[in-house]
Amino acid sequence: KREGDKWILNGQKKWIGNATFADILIIWARNEADNEVKGFIVKKDNPGFAVEKMKDKMALRIVQNGIITLTNCEVEEADRLQNANSFKDTAKVLQMTRAGVAWQAVGCARGAYENALDYTRTRKQFGKPIASFQLIQNHLVEMLSNLTAMQTLCFRLSQLQDQGLLKDEHASLAKVFCSLRTRDVVSKAREVMGGNGILLEYNVARFVADAEAIYSYEGTKEINTLIVGRAITGFSAFV
Ligand SMILES: Cc1cc2nc3c(=O)[nH]c(=O)nc-3n(C[C@H](O)[C@H](O)[C@H](O)COP(=O)(O)OP(=O)(O)OC[C@H]3O[C@@H](n4cnc5c(N)ncnc54)[C@H](O)[C@@H]3O)c2cc1C
Repeated sequence: KREGDKWILNGQKKWIGNATFADILIIWARNEADNEVKGFIVKKDNPGFAVEKMKDKMALRIVQNGIITLTNCEVEEADRLQNANSFKDTAKVLQMTRAGVAWQAVGCARGAYENALDYTRTRKQFGKPIASFQLIQNHLVEMLSNLTAMQTLCFRLSQLQDQGLLKDEHASLAKVFCSLRTRDVVSKAREVMGGNGILLEYNVARFVADAEAIYSYEGTKEINTLIVGRAITGFSAFV
């Protein structure tokens, strides 16, 4: 809520990437007066701001995530994002970040595929590289098919972005499709590596774990599906 030239923010949010060491954070908060979401620049030393580092994540371990708590956190009106006046403005940011996560899924799947391909060409069973077995080639080709579909979808997404034509539903469709297909690709990559697929030293286990985070953040499958569903049917199924 607003009090004179200041805003008082209250609330808590889990999972904020890099919040543990960021100097400034963008907080999206609903204004009690007009019920609209607004954006605020919160500095790490703002009174009432606290962050706690999350521990023991199995995925995206290189990224630190924090739980942010705002307790009567004071923010100057000058630190309110002046052009962010409703959730529609927040959604513009989500459109961009969801497109980015679709590409991230491509990178994860590609890393898994390339590691698996290399492995199968060197790992020998019955005196031959396992890549020479028909059933292993079937897995590799399925992985490559998914990967190629994801890459071309994301390439088109970026073209639309460059042309200023990207819509929320494009980004959501790409995020849903790529994060779903990535789970499939990393799972097959792990499979063709046998037991070694679960050892961290062979890389693919890391991609398997990261695919789970990519699947759930920047809008779960459910929320992104409803965004696409609304666009293609004209009916909002949000409750
Ligand atoms: C690694 C990681 C990094 C993240 N980084 C950030 C960040 O930087 N900033 C940030 O703000 N957030 C971040 N998040 C939070 C992320 O956006 C949420 O985890 C995600 O939106 C899901 O919310 P939740 O975890 O509370 O799941 P929940 O809301 O508890 O949902 C659990 C399950 O129920 C489903 N569900 C919930 N409601 C419904 C419904 N009405 N109908 C059908 N299904 C439903 C969900 O789709 C999901 O499958 C991050 C999360 C992760 C895992």
